[in-house]
Amino acid sequence: MTQHMSRTNSGNLGSWGQPGVQKTTGKLLATHGYVLGIEISGSGSRQSVALADLNGNILRRVRRPLEYVPDPATVMRLLDEMLAEVMKAEELQDGRILRVGVAVGGLVDSTHGIVRTLHHAHGWEDFPLQEYLERRLDIPCIIDNNANAAALAEVQLGVGTGERVVLYVGLGRGIGGGLVVNGRIYHGTTCTAGEIGHLLVKEGGPKCSCGMFGHLEAIVSAQAISRTMIGLAVEYPETEAAIHRVTGARAERITAVQVFQLAAEGDSIAQGIVRDVEKYLGIALANIVHIINPSMIILGGQVAQVGDLLIAPLATYIHSVCLPAASQSVRIVQSKHGTEANSVGAVTLALQDV
Ligand SMILES: [Zn+2]
Repeated sequence: MTQHMSRTNSGNLGSWGQPGVQKTTGKLLATHGYVLGIEISGSGSRQSVALADLNGNILRRVRRPLEYVPDPATVMRLLDEMLAEVMKAEELQDGRILRVGVAVGGLVDSTHGIVRTLHHAHGWEDFPLQEYLERRLDIPCIIDNNANAAALAEVQLGVGTGERVVLYVGLGRGIGGGLVVNGRIYHGTTCTAGEIGHLLVKEGGPKCSCGMFGHLEAIVSAQAISRTMIGLAVEYPETEAAIHRVTGARAERITAVQVFQLAAEGDSIAQGIVRDVEKYLGIALANIVHIINPSMIILGGQVAQVGDLLIAPLATYIHSVCLPAASQSVRIVQSKHGTEANSVGAVTLALQDV
């Protein structure tokens, strides 16, 4: 287990970091409050608690990433530790925590505050996380899927400011999607809107994490890209040598970004994988463009870190296969918050209607 903590001062909090100053009277001002943003992932790789001011500036963030898939009891224990660390009394003297937002890497019934499933993990089926945290903290709490939260973060505090119809695509270990319309997350009838990782794009294609075949996630997620590269390289010594070179002889650690870099350097196996990523992500997004007519598609997560190596060919493809009236005003951009999008998203959830 590793630990990391970051902390940034904000100019909005005058008495930040001055122990001994106590307010015993006075009405709570809108600026004198904080929110908490909690991030939970089923793989254990991303677990954090962030303290933010009411402008969304993150003042302190504590992480407890794990290298194994944790059970709910372990996650709750880690949450308790992280919460205790960010809520140290001397740092909250100038206000109180008004709301908690939680970005969950799984299927979430946000209407009822329930985690339906946590991807990769067991024991979370229909877990009443919102009620649990509200009882534990005595603070109003809002939970949502992490891609929905990230989408909201990009619209409120990122590259999508002012955009009316935005699709966020989180290209991480899995693939998540979030739709924000007129500043609000669009959840659909049963809170599964935006689950674009499970769009069928290749009949008879590779097996998806959900058990079905040919879904977008099985071809385009960071994990799928790495896995495909490792699998194909076995038959191509030059590619295998290139993988060993960029990973320091730890082939199993090759990242999606490294696969894109090898493609750009001319490796034909990597180029084939990248072409498939562009093609199948392009098909999925082109279909979505015709349904929701977005003004912006935001790409986040690990795979989006390659930037224009992915975005430029994807934009060309989408504009070539969509009706001009549907696609002419669509901009495809890289997310502002990158791999922190879920954490910032949790904070943004908490800031809604505060
Ligand atoms: Zn699937």
